[in-house]
Amino acid sequence: MEKIALEKYKGIIWDLDGVIFDITEAIKKAVEDGVEKYNLDVHVDSVLQEVAHLIEEIQHYPVPKIILNSYNLLQVDFLEDMSYMKKLRIAVFLFNQFNEYREDCTIFKRIDQIIEKLHEKNVKLAILTNNKSQYAEEILAKFNLSVYFPTIIGFNDVSEVKPSPEGILKIIEKWNMKPEEVIFIGDMTTDVDAGKAAGVKMVCVASGLAEKNALLEHDPDFLVENTTELEEIFNF
Ligand SMILES: [Mg+2]
Repeated sequence: MEKIALEKYKGIIWDLDGVIFDITEAIKKAVEDGVEKYNLDVHVDSVLQEVAHLIEEIQHYPVPKIILNSYNLLQVDFLEDMSYMKKLRIAVFLFNQFNEYREDCTIFKRIDQIIEKLHEKNVKLAILTNNKSQYAEEILAKFNLSVYFPTIIGFNDVSEVKPSPEGILKIIEKWNMKPEEVIFIGDMTTDVDAGKAAGVKMVCVASGLAEKNALLEHDPDFLVENTTELEEIFNF
């Protein structure tokens, strides 16, 4: 596997969900519950990415905006041909189930060691999430990682969320670095698009929510299957 020459980089920006914090099981269980309760004719694995995106969007919009945009928000493949009210009921159910299961979620195994090693090598670290920055602060505090991430950018800190490069560029500017000195690590196609648009080195972790082929189509610089492979490409 190709390795990252770490000495060429001064900063690493991290997506949170799916890269540091493992929400895969929470999404899966929420979908399984939804499939059972509403008798949905879908294959759980094939809708995870769509549900993850839907939940992320519901999470990051204020309620009035969700209501105004709900028709468009619910234009998802796995709910097609249903009445608007049924779609809405299912989406709210999925969201509530996810939030319950999320309480039991944890960080990926060894991701804290990787973060610590990068910190020891004086690489600057930041979080860029499409969630609220306060949500990221809470997760990082819960797993004793706050000290490594003095910079956290959430949807509330930018005018456009990923796939816009705005958040990445904002962090790079704060660090006073060039894009080619920075790595962005994410797990969704929107992350790959944001990283490429910003001109940074894009590392994609196929955490299980987005399909690997879909990620590869967006052409990340590196694609790893899991945290073990992520540690390997850093070549500490
Ligand atoms: Mg993510």
